Amino acid sequence: MSDWQKILHESVDTLDKLAEKFGRDVIDVDGLRPAFDNFQMRLTPAALDQIHEVGDPMWNQYVPTVQELDIVDGVIDSLDEDGDSPVPNITHRYPDRVLFLVSPVCASYCRFCTRRRKVGDPEKIPLNQFESAFAYIRAHPEIRDVIMSGGDPMMLSDRRLEYLFQKLREIPHVEIIRIGSRITSHLPQRITPEFCDMVRKYHPVYMNTHFNHPSELTPETVAALGRLADAGIPLGCQTVLLRGVNDDAGVMKELMQKLMKARVRPYYIYMADQVAGGEHFRTTVEKGLEIIKALRGWTSGLAVPHFVIDAPGGGGKVPLLPEYVEEINDEEVIFRNYAGERYVYKQPRHAVSVPACGTAAAAESDVFSIQAAKKPRKKASGGAKRRKTGT
Ligand code: SF4
Repeated sequence: MSDWQKILHESVDTLDKLAEKFGRDVIDVDGLRPAFDNFQMRLTPAALDQIHEVGDPMWNQYVPTVQELDIVDGVIDSLDEDGDSPVPNITHRYPDRVLFLVSPVCASYCRFCTRRRKVGDPEKIPLNQFESAFAYIRAHPEIRDVIMSGGDPMMLSDRRLEYLFQKLREIPHVEIIRIGSRITSHLPQRITPEFCDMVRKYHPVYMNTHFNHPSELTPETVAALGRLADAGIPLGCQTVLLRGVNDDAGVMKELMQKLMKARVRPYYIYMADQVAGGEHFRTTVEKGLEIIKALRGWTSGLAVPHFVIDAPGGGGKVPLLPEYVEEINDEEVIFRNYAGERYVYKQPRHAVSVPACGTAAAAESDVFSIQAAKKPRKKASGGAKRRKTGT
């Protein structure tokens, strides 16, 4: 057994162990038991260390509550991943990439998990049905990007991961391999020098990490991220907007800045999915837009991820942006900058004089539809700088 597997065995994975660690006076053991029956719990030593007190943002991410039993507004497979699954373990939704579920387990289990219908259950993410997945990828030359996920792929042994890399690298049209993993937060010891040496043989390999709160970036985690970056793995991060965890602009800004320092590029902030049992984690879209507005311009653009809703029912990721544009007409665009100051950008002359045709026609008809909804505006007389009015 490797060192990281031994550390995993020290996890808290039962209600009794949890009550023992934090005290039966603060944990309603009988009340929580149905929630434990509903979805696995496991807290690795690293995840436990991140909890400073019962009910803090780290606690909320991992410890069940009876609110999970409220499934009034949630659906089991909210993104309809199974509807886009041509063979077991594969979801093919977008034109040039597939999701490949390679592991049923995670080091720690997040209560808001979109895939909680499957995660933790080896029968639902079978490890003995990879051949049909490889055959599917092989038969579809348009697939250039394979995203390994689960569960957490990094829960597999190096030997099994190398087998997956080898099989994928035998398929000429697979250009990029991505690993979706929360292991650097849950079990940083898993990022061993041996894994880093192995993965170098199969580049380009990317890793999408998952961090929701600045407290997750402990020195051990930052060191693990450094080992991955040194091994040539570009690192991105997806974050889920969660009520009671990170629904605060200051917390998100600190998280994004800490990620950048750890050589991780923030990639997505997701609205929490409408997953059964996760209703209590959801907040409003307006809150997400407020957070993006508090990031854009106020910190490096590299630290500003895309804010998206993964459309329920399988529509894919849809980006959401705060409103900066006040008006577009055929002469100018009027907008506000990050600080709320007003500016004008002149449209190019050819956009006004050239008759609409083909793609330009479509673009222009969009502009006109925006324009039609606005009050006609007097022609601008000054340069962009002179039109600044401020607020
Ligand atoms: S690590 Fe990812 S897959 Fe595993 S429980 Fe958390 S969100 Fe779900």
